[in-house]
Amino acid sequence: MRAHRPTTELPRHLEQLYERFPFDRSFADDPISSIRPLATDRRRGEVAAIVGATLAIGNTTAIRGAIGRVAEAGGGDVAWLIDPSHARERTRRLAGFRHRWIRGDQLDHLFRVLADYYAGHDSLEEAFVAGWAQGGFSGGLDRLSSVLRGSGRSAELGRAPAGYHALFPSPLDRSGSPCKRLTLFVRWMVRARYPDLGYWSRVPTGELRVPLDHHVYWIAYHLGLTGRRTRSWEAVEEVSEALRRIDPIDPVKYDFVLCHTGISGDCPKERDIAVCGPCSVRPDCRLWRGRAVAA
Ligand code: SF4
Repeated sequence: MRAHRPTTELPRHLEQLYERFPFDRSFADDPISSIRPLATDRRRGEVAAIVGATLAIGNTTAIRGAIGRVAEAGGGDVAWLIDPSHARERTRRLAGFRHRWIRGDQLDHLFRVLADYYAGHDSLEEAFVAGWAQGGFSGGLDRLSSVLRGSGRSAELGRAPAGYHALFPSPLDRSGSPCKRLTLFVRWMVRARYPDLGYWSRVPTGELRVPLDHHVYWIAYHLGLTGRRTRSWEAVEEVSEALRRIDPIDPVKYDFVLCHTGISGDCPKERDIAVCGPCSVRPDCRLWRGRAVAA
């Protein structure tokens, strides 16, 4: 198949998509709507967002439900979950937790790791910025992954439960992971514009990479923002670079809209004029390029 490149009109059409998007409808469906009420300060915001990002697998209703159950285990206050004096009770309360393949013992270990980290640091931003200074965004994500895995702290933290390290992939691993969940966490932390939290101030929004879930990847591929056929870290870089050419200051501004266009069913992922008709990016979409639409 011929390479599908973005049209020169794509920036204008994306902007239209953004301007017309029903943010409030999709905000209610997004995990961030369950995180925001828990994020009453920066520390709680980071903990709630790490929980939300870690659980961001599967459909949004199930993710919001899982975040709610974890918050409930902390009596509605995520700070309770990282208080070392609550460790034994926390382990008990999380014992039966399950969301997809994520288990309560893994979350229990995550809270142990966070409590250990926060004993010596104010914010996870320090870890991200240290890695970013050396190796750019992927270096920052790698450092974050390393902290969350508890690397080098096994004496203090004990043995991690089975499958724990795989929850926090790094772009520098050879796994080929798009690292969607950590990239989403960083988006929530860095962007201060709706609907994100904006607790971090040292990372410019222009540095962000797009959290490439299946919906965003599908549309990005069909708009020509990437030609890659797999949802890899290389695809993340390609889509992010294409979006940066459109908006160098805030390239992931369109992420929420692209993601929820897929989640909400506004994009059928096939040629269906009844649904595609009002789509602002239809002239750019691989499925429609060059096709006349009957009036
Ligand atoms: S034109 Fe249709 S298939 Fe293409 S992005 Fe828009 S809604 Fe999706």
